[in-house]
Amino acid sequence: MKPMTLKELDVAGKRVLMRVDFNVPFDGEGKISDDTRIRAALPSIQNVLERGGKVILMSHLGRPKGEVKPEWTLKPCAERLEKLLGEKVNFPEPGGGRLTLLENVRFHTGEEKPESDPGFVEGLAKLGDCYVNDAFGTAHRAHGSTTQLATFFPGKAAMGLLLEKEVTFLGERLKEPKRPFYAIIGGAKISTKIGVIAALLKKVDKLFIGGGMAYTFFKAQGIPIGESIHEDAFLDEARQLMEDDKIVLPLDCVTTKGVVTFPEGISEGAEGMDIGPKTVEMLKRELPKAETLLWNGPLGVFEMPAYAKGTQAVAQLLAGLESCRIIGGGDSVAAIQQAGLQERFTHLSTGGGASLEFIEKGTLPGLDALVLAKNSAPVL
Ligand code: ADP
Ligand code: MG
Repeated sequence: MKPMTLKELDVAGKRVLMRVDFNVPFDGEGKISDDTRIRAALPSIQNVLERGGKVILMSHLGRPKGEVKPEWTLKPCAERLEKLLGEKVNFPEPGGGRLTLLENVRFHTGEEKPESDPGFVEGLAKLGDCYVNDAFGTAHRAHGSTTQLATFFPGKAAMGLLLEKEVTFLGERLKEPKRPFYAIIGGAKISTKIGVIAALLKKVDKLFIGGGMAYTFFKAQGIPIGESIHEDAFLDEARQLMEDDKIVLPLDCVTTKGVVTFPEGISEGAEGMDIGPKTVEMLKRELPKAETLLWNGPLGVFEMPAYAKGTQAVAQLLAGLESCRIIGGGDSVAAIQQAGLQERFTHLSTGGGASLEFIEKGTLPGLDALVLAKNSAPVL
């Protein structure tokens, strides 16, 4: 069952409590260094304003852990939002205008631990007539403003446009993908992705592994990996996953001491940092065969230019394809933005952990709460 959508919600003349994700990064001088997340929330905010509703926004920022910490104030986000919309933003309390941003919800213990202070969510509920969740990046957390709040609005709780878009691409499009469906999974650690790898193996036609996690798979086969990142606790699981012949490992890699091929492997004292040129060539041959492609996790230490080539080559390759290409994961999206290619993809997911959990489980606590609120609505 699908949650209500913002379009189905009657917002005219209503106060709409909207959970957004304004958890933006800051530079050393306390300035917002990337406002993508604020921009991503604009369509839902504008939609409500255009239909004659008032908007009361809620978000978290950083990890103040239930304490008021001035360095985690949302004030800079209120100012940025005001600039982007050209509309007065009340902060931190509702005022005369149509738009309010409340202060960081994580200044209250009742956000991350709703049972410790039920009064917090009750207080929030009083500020609105209906509820919208548009914070995909936090929809995998069962927090006060992401799940509990929905219970106060039976029949009046909906997903925002951003959340709906994520559900459409990561959910519907991947549930019945056009085939062949290939996935590329990279990143540092196998431990953070083992669940998603196992879930994807049931759906994909091929799964290409790269990045740091590849070395655990090589070690599991007895191939030398030198000083490369790996997790001994996952050797058995890696071995089991390898029994599925859909998994494709790199053919070579760039180490701190030059390029080496597999199965020869990496000698002592060298560390695997990026996929090698043969692997890039293999991906150039293979990936265009897919009708649907999912990519999560950089294929090397892309933060260092010397080891960004593999990740950048795959970003360029995918950007030039016509198939459905979906990217999930904070660092993968950062790598694509680094290359300025963000416009060329079917969908870039805004949520790192949330997109992985959604691909793995097919739902998220934030979505379940909205479905529950829809089902508990009185039948008129
Ligand atoms: P995402 O955020 O896209 O899900 P992850 O957080 O799982 O991606 O992984 C990103 C990190 O993986 C990057 O910081 C990158 O440097 C690291 N990484 C990739 N390849 C390697 C490698 N060979 N050795 C060490 N770290 C790696
Ligand atoms: Mg990451």
